[in-house]
Amino acid sequence: MRYPVIVISSMRVAGMALYPFILVNNKDAVNDATLLNHERIHLKQQREMLVIFFYIAYLLNYFINLIKYCNHHKAYLNIVFEREAYKNEQNLVYLKQRGFWWWRFYL
Ligand SMILES: [Zn+2]
Repeated sequence: MRYPVIVISSMRVAGMALYPFILVNNKDAVNDATLLNHERIHLKQQREMLVIFFYIAYLLNYFINLIKYCNHHKAYLNIVFEREAYKNEQNLVYLKQRGFWWWRFYL
């Protein structure tokens, strides 16, 4: 599935997946295959969790991690959905092989 990529230069992060859009903070990022793959992994996670349950689980996981690590960056990197996306962002065929709810292997 193709997702529209939108450039929002005022965004503080490089990329973001806001179903069904990929938001990036500069026009060069539109050609960044790794970044786009990372965001597409999130869009797949979102779709298979009916979008809303992804955001609830994502935030819940973040706040649990924040209590655990007392550090924003560590809390973010250890969100199960981020673990899956970072681990596989350079594998450009990952989404073709990936099964349903494979993020669960990164719990
Ligand atoms: Zn991510």
